[in-house]
Amino acid sequence: MSTQHPSNSEEEYFARKEYERLRKLAAEKDAVQAADKAKKRQELHYMHCPKCGGDLTAIVFKQIEVDKCTSCAGVWLDNGELEQILQQEDAKLLRRILKVFHNG
Ligand SMILES: [Zn+2]
Repeated sequence: MSTQHPSNSEEEYFARKEYERLRKLAAEKDAVQAADKAKKRQELHYMHCPKCGGDLTAIVFKQIEVDKCTSCAGVWLDNGELEQILQQEDAKLLRRILKVFHNG
């Protein structure tokens, strides 16, 4: 014997719709909170040494601006800066080798 109420499927439909709406709202809230957290984290850590928490100051090293800690003297590189320094060193080494061949 079927006990299904005629409006059951309609209720289910609206319950599912409401659930989807709440889930979307929760996801939006999570995204806002994550962005807020990332912003706060950046504000807290920006130009601070990852090792000792000291203030970082920009210095020019091999024509590249790197961040140096005023407390522990650690030097920190941004993305791509190590490659730039290595490229300069490679070029220097190549020039040294060429010079050897020229002189020899
Ligand atoms: Zn430091």
